Order: sequence, then structure tokens, then C-alpha cells
Amino acid sequence: MENIKEKIEELRKTLKYHSDRYYLDDAPEIEDNEYDMLMRELERLEAAYPEYDDPDSPTKRVGGRADNSFESVEHTVRMESLRDAFSKEEIFDFDKKVRDTVSGVNYVVEPKIDGLSVSLEYVNGIFYRGSTRGDGDVGEDVSGNLRVIRSIPMKLKKELAYLEVRGEVYMPKKSFNRVVDNQLINGEKPFKNPRNAAAGSLRQKDSVVTASRGLDIFVFNIQQIEGAELTSHKQSLDFLKELGFNTVPFYNRCGSMEEAFGFVEKIGEMRGELEFDIDGAVIKVDDFSHRELLGSTAKFPKWAIAFKYPPEEKQTKLIDIEMAVGRTGVLTPTAVLEPVHLAGTTVSRATLHNQDFINEKGINIGDIVTVRKAGDIIPEVLCVNEKNSTGNFTFPSVCPSCGEPVVREDGEAAIRCINPECPAQLLRNLIHFCSRDAMDIEGLGPSIIEAFVDNGFIEKTYDIYHLDPDEIAKLEGFKETSANNIIASVKRSKENDLGKLVFALGIRHIGAKAAKLLADEFKDIDSIISASVDDILNIEGYGLIMAESVVEFFSGESAKQLIEELKAVGVNMKSKTVIRDNRFEGMTFVLTGTLEHYKRSEASKIIESFGGKTSSSVSKKTSYVLSGEASGSKLDKANALGVPVISEAEFEEMIKDE
Ligand code: NAD
Repeated sequence: MENIKEKIEELRKTLKYHSDRYYLDDAPEIEDNEYDMLMRELERLEAAYPEYDDPDSPTKRVGGRADNSFESVEHTVRMESLRDAFSKEEIFDFDKKVRDTVSGVNYVVEPKIDGLSVSLEYVNGIFYRGSTRGDGDVGEDVSGNLRVIRSIPMKLKKELAYLEVRGEVYMPKKSFNRVVDNQLINGEKPFKNPRNAAAGSLRQKDSVVTASRGLDIFVFNIQQIEGAELTSHKQSLDFLKELGFNTVPFYNRCGSMEEAFGFVEKIGEMRGELEFDIDGAVIKVDDFSHRELLGSTAKFPKWAIAFKYPPEEKQTKLIDIEMAVGRTGVLTPTAVLEPVHLAGTTVSRATLHNQDFINEKGINIGDIVTVRKAGDIIPEVLCVNEKNSTGNFTFPSVCPSCGEPVVREDGEAAIRCINPECPAQLLRNLIHFCSRDAMDIEGLGPSIIEAFVDNGFIEKTYDIYHLDPDEIAKLEGFKETSANNIIASVKRSKENDLGKLVFALGIRHIGAKAAKLLADEFKDIDSIISASVDDILNIEGYGLIMAESVVEFFSGESAKQLIEELKAVGVNMKSKTVIRDNRFEGMTFVLTGTLEHYKRSEASKIIESFGGKTSSSVSKKTSYVLSGEASGSKLDKANALGVPVISEAEFEEMIKDE
């Protein structure tokens, strides 16, 4: 018995952990299907062993909770979840239970949109507030971010005293592809799927970012209404349309469960062709008086059920493996398959992730494999069914794009090309090179760089220093002045401190700060190039991975050539940090909060000019924490470790001329 209890507790703990990754971080670590199966297992055990009942179990509560970085909103009408079903039997079982309570039932069938649930409130026809579901009772106020979603009406077409409507914010597949492309260009971790992308874009602080993400909404329920009488779900959806909302598409009223389930299957067939992700279809009792009789559990209404489409699997032949170099230099293998029809689309390619994955599954060209397409967009190879080859496919030892040797770092699954001039990575590297903390070339933002690459103005990083203002001025959207401004900022960048150049080179594991330390230590680029791992390890803050990364980078021919070309156009190759005096020598400062008279970067420069260093984290070795307005956890840590905390005024006292 103890064993069962432990198993139940373990499952509850695991589900809660994954629920937080999914709802709070918008970054799930397991597939939905896996999560659903764990939930099912817990439900089964709880039903068999009611003595271990717990009202706080994930089976009894709406998943998710409100994050305290948003204002909280109490939902007057609980935002419930939905019971789910994975088979036809379960759907007909639901139908039977409904008919045990009510007769003459009609169902409305709708696609189940894979996004995040929101409530929108209107007072006298004007948008008043919008919030997330949270734990169903308390959600997060995301009104500002909802206002930038164009299809949410700010004013209803009819005036109503009060309306609360529920909908699903989602990211159309097209926007998702664009957002992920941009994330890859900027070297950020891409969203896993449109659902997480929608949640991550809505649940963040800056509405400008939300606006750039192309979110949309479908509404599917009236939670509360004053000023109109409605008696059925279908009627309320029609009414929401008249008010100016985007209602959930192709909803359909059916007189029987046979008809309803037929429509569920039809939606399943359309799934692959839709512009948005769905993870199932919802069957709802239409008549409000029936709904009232059926009631709800603490977690879901008893008048609705969600049918989840199973991930589809099929066998096919793997006819080739293509190797691509991503914009971050990672080599990614793609299986080319004999086309199969899967989850509403024709699949002819699937991801093979990396060499470890290929070895683990024993994959090679010519094998018959099983492919699966779950809710996600990219299909995957599950296993080999028939081995028609010998051994496993192995990655090439040189980059398929530039021919330079590829590297695999300890503890990493990825094999990557680190050549800074590799054409496949050019765009990303250029964007990084010109960015503010790097060479800070004002006017050369991502879209302009892309246009210059497309027009053949830039083929190698150093071509930035050979741009021709007359050619630029001929491009659409440019004039002589804008072209000259770009040339002027390119010229200015030649005078940058060496630290900025080192950062701009995009050496793995070397951020802006580490690049500056390197420049300050060795003073000029040639000394950095000839430094050994041991030499570099002398710099405080440098570990083995960083030191090796620097040496590996400068051992490449392309890196050396790039430096020579940059020298030839007159880019500064020397450290410019001016040491005024050494009063802070050996001291490390940590800055936290907002300072009144200095930007943090300015304060750092001052500290460095007196021979001190700055660090981003507080440790016992920290000499002082300089604390401004609204300081957070760093201040707490400093107090806990007994590190002296100084105010801005005290700092000014310390830097006064002696
Ligand atoms: P749910 O998402 O399965 O169903 C309820 C939601 O469906 C509602 O909140 C509603 O917003 C939405 N919905 C979309 N279209 C709708 C429509 N037409 N009518 C009514 N509702 C509609 O349930 P849940 O409790 O929010 O979450 C469970 C889901 O989240 C499961 O699919 C689970 O796999 C996934 N999940 C995954 C992880 C993970 O780690 N992968 C963790 C937690 C939850």
C-alpha cells in the first residue's frame, strides 16, 4: 500500500512540476501527450484508491496559477478547464451521462484552439479589462497586451451594460514561423510551438513586443452578460459575431452524438490545412437550461468534453539525410522521406535532431522508419522498423556550407561550425557584429543588413567597411542622407575599444563583459590571438570552457583572415581603457537597481577607470554592492553574505578627485 501512496504522490509532484513549466514559464519540457498520459494514470490510481484523495491534486484543480509579476484578477465566474477524451467510446460514454440527466439534447462542435485562455470584460460596450485563466479563480491582468491584438474590439457594435467573454489567444502558424526565424537570427532560444509562443508573447511586460508577435484571438463563450437574454450556446456565438468578435470558426450544431462525432472527425481531417494549431475538438451541450442541470466539478463543466486527436504515426522509407547549417552554426540533420499522409498533411521530411538521436535509434539511409506528427508542426522519426543498411548515419567532419572543420564541445549534443565567415551564418553574425554592445553601428539594424545581404553588398563581415553610399542610395527606402548616415556610423565604429570588437566577433561563451576583460588583459588583438589557454585562465572570471573557446576561435583560418581585413580598413585593434588611478584595484563591484545620475554602463566604466571590476552576481568575493532605486534580490544576497552595500552618494564620495 505504501508503494501506491508513494506512486500517487510522485505523480502529483511530477505533474505539478510540468504544469509550472507549461503555465508559468511557457516552456514545457515534455510533450502534451506524455503529460496527458501521466494525468490519466493518476486519475486511475486515485479512483482505485480513494483513501489517498487530496482536493489539491492536479486531477481536481484547473492547471496553472497567476504569476505575481502581474496584477491579479479574481474571476467572478470560474474559468474552467475541460474533461478530455481520447477515444470514441469515451465520447459516447459522456453522451450517455448527459442523457441520464437531460433529454432532447443538441450539441455544438467547435475546434479546440491551442493557445491560452483569456477573459475579456466590457463595461457599457467599452473594453475594460482582460486577464489570463491562472488557476481558474485568480488570473493575471494582461489588459495592456490584449489591447494590441487588433481583432479584439475596443468598442462593441451594440451597447451592453456588462459583458465577460472567454476566448483563446493564439499565434497563427505564419506569425509563429516568422517569430521563430527572428529568434534564431538573434541567437535566442526559439519557442517550441505556437501555443507556448502565444503564451510567452502575451504574458510579458512590454506591449510593444506583444504587438510585434502577430497574435490573434477566437472567442468561444459568454461568461456573464447584462443587457441581453440568451438561451443557447449557438445563439450566443452568433451574437458575439454581431458584437464584432472573431468567434471560434466553423462551429456546428448537431442533433445527435453520431452527427457530432462525425463533425469532430471532419475537423480532424482539416487539421493540417488550418492557419492555426488545434489540439482537439470540443463538444458542448447547446441549451443553457440543460447546462445548469448538468453542473460542474471543481475542475470542469459536465456539459462539455474535449476530444484530443491522437498523434498520428505511419511507416515510410527514409530516402536521404540532408545536412543544414543553422544560423547559429549548428548542423541539423533532416530525414527525407517517401511522402506519407499524416494528421491532415503530406509529410516528406522529419527532424533527426542530432548525432546522439541517430545513434540511439540506429538510423541510416534506406531504413523503414515510423514517423509521428503530434500537435507540433515538425514531424519526428520515432523508431526504425526495418533495417536496410549497415551502421548508423554519421555527421560529416566538415561544415557542408563552408568546408571548415566542425566541432562538438564536451557535454553538448550539437555539432557546430564556428567559422565566423561561414555563409550559412552570415546574417546572424552580421546582426550581432553591428549590435549596440558589439560594434554599435547605428542604422545597420537586422532588416537593413538583410537587404544589403540580399542585394549582394555584403558577402563577408568586413564588406561592411566597403559599403558604397551611392549604391545604398539607389535602394528603395534610402536617400542620400540616410546612406551617408550609415557610412558615417560605420566609420565611427572603427574607433571602438578593442573589447567591443572582440565581443562583435561572436566567440562562443564570450559575452560583452568577458570580451572586455580579454581586451583589458592583453591590450591588443595580436596578443589575444597568440595567447594560450593557460594565459587566458589567469583572467579572473574566466573558466576552462571560455578560455578554450577563445583559443579555438582564433586558431581558425577564417578568423585570422577576418582580423587582417579589419586591420586593413583601419579598425582599432587596441584596448583603450584609460586608468585614472588604481584606487579600486583588486575590488569587485556589483550594481543593482536604478541609479539617479549614471546609466549602469557609465558607472561600470568609472569603476574600471579606477582599476576596479564589475560583476553581475554577488558572492563573498564582492567588495561592494552599489544599490540604486528598486534593488531586488542582489541586495538581499549582499545582506545575507555581509557584503557592504553603498548608496549612489557614497559611491560619488569614493570617486571624487583626491
Ligand atoms: P485544455 O487546454 O486541454 O482544455 C481547456 C482549455 O481549452 C480551456 O482553457 C480553453 O481556453 C481551451 N479552448 C480552446 N478552444 C476552446 C473551445 N472551442 N471551447 C472551449 N475551450 C476551448 O486543458 P488545460 O487544463 O488548460 O490544460 C491541459 C492541457 O495542457 C493538456 O493538453 C496538457 O497536455 C497540456 N499541458 C501540458 C504540459 C506539458 O508539460 N507538456 C503541462 C501542463 C499542461
